[in-house]
Amino acid sequence: MSETDYDLFVIGAGSGGVRAARMSSGFGAKVAIAESRYLGGTCVNVGCVPKKLFSYAAHYREDFSDAKGFGWDCEVQELDWPRLRDNKTKEIERLNGIYGNLLRNAGVELINGHARIIDPNTVEVEGKQYTAKSILISVGGWPFIPEFPGREFAISSNEFFYLEHLPKHAVIVGGGYIATEFAGILHGLGVDVEQIYRGDLFLRGFDSEIRAQLAEEMRAKGIKLRFNDNVAEIIKKDGRYQLTLESGENVVTDQVLYATGRKPLLDGLGLENTSVSLTDEGYIAVDQGFKTTEPSIYAVGDVTAGMELTPVALAEGMNLAKRLFKGDQTVLDYSFIPTAIFSQPNLATVGFSEEDARERYGDIAVFTSRFTHLKHTLSGNMTKTFLKLIVDKASDKVVGAHMMGDDAGEIIQGIAVAIKAGATKADFDSTIGIHPTVAEEFVTMREASR
Ligand code: NDP
Repeated sequence: MSETDYDLFVIGAGSGGVRAARMSSGFGAKVAIAESRYLGGTCVNVGCVPKKLFSYAAHYREDFSDAKGFGWDCEVQELDWPRLRDNKTKEIERLNGIYGNLLRNAGVELINGHARIIDPNTVEVEGKQYTAKSILISVGGWPFIPEFPGREFAISSNEFFYLEHLPKHAVIVGGGYIATEFAGILHGLGVDVEQIYRGDLFLRGFDSEIRAQLAEEMRAKGIKLRFNDNVAEIIKKDGRYQLTLESGENVVTDQVLYATGRKPLLDGLGLENTSVSLTDEGYIAVDQGFKTTEPSIYAVGDVTAGMELTPVALAEGMNLAKRLFKGDQTVLDYSFIPTAIFSQPNLATVGFSEEDARERYGDIAVFTSRFTHLKHTLSGNMTKTFLKLIVDKASDKVVGAHMMGDDAGEIIQGIAVAIKAGATKADFDSTIGIHPTVAEEFVTMREASR
């Protein structure tokens, strides 16, 4: 084709888009990136980063109480929510600036505004048209709230991050990552929380035993979990919200937070001007090289089907940049992706659940350990730590590791390297532990009797 303005035009400056843009530019491509909202996307602005900051804030309440057994008497005041919220927002604004600098320093042209695809090689932003050899769609997703009477009274996590006042009581609907994390965060911040989930047990897809353990610990902390029920209607009454549940029961609350999944953010993108096709669930369909059904258009991250995780989008953005501008056609390996839920207590996992491993490998060995953290012998905190390893008996390979407890994500990240490298249970057993730690339990586990 004739000369274009850019080699790559990226739509959406979230984790995947920014990584693809910076790397492509680094490999010598001429790159522009358009963003209509905020630099850094969901993760930086209304996702991982502010969520983790709030999660730290939430943990302090328990830490103050744990401190007593160690001789510290702390007077715990009520949380100063505006201070926490505004400090968080300042940090996010600082990160937005860093993202802008990273892009500019990498030689990427940053274009502010909503981008619309005009044809397979042309994008329009704020009335100006730009041509490109390739277009990357990395616009991410947006919270989905189902249709029901009173839906307008529900907020999503997006709004929670900027709430004017912290509610006294909140209902959280959903049983996935966000609902479960926010149940712990809100509870830790001093809100009376009820989580409502339509199924038998939240966190569908994770190891059943660890899901049950988490439910037990959350209940013990005072979080109300209501399973096998759903919201039928919300009405506003005397400044509060009255929820009628499908079971017929009523719940009155000050805030209703919906965390019922996210959908790709495709509105106004101009896909009708291309031959890009969608999956049955409405995600952009791509091949293993992130190419859509329109040969000049690619997509990475949450706008495509797959695990909606920042590190996955980053890996995809990197892989695409190498494909397009370095001639490296390595297919991204999605096996053994570790993940954490910053619930209270934290939960993290890599590899197969016991159920999935049994189905896939047949003969498996299961190792579990449930114990009181050394710290809690003095703190008086009754929270238990739970670890689980799943081993394929035929190869002795560890094919799943699960943990509930403090810093589970930090520990499972290390275990994930071993599992990804094909470590066997014998390798775990021959590794000497670091004493006294929680993580050492992973190298001293004996088979569970079940
Ligand atoms: P999830 O897909 O994790 O969970 C959605 C939940 O909503 C499920 O429990 C689902 O139930 C329920 N649900 C879906 N539709 C309805 C409905 N119509 N009525 C009632 N309940 C419904 O989505 P989240 O919103 O929690 O998070 C989005 C994604 O963001 C996650 O999948 C994850 O990939 C990512 N994320 C990652 C985090 C991390 O890495 N720590 C943190 C936060 C988000 P059911 O199970 O029955 O389908």
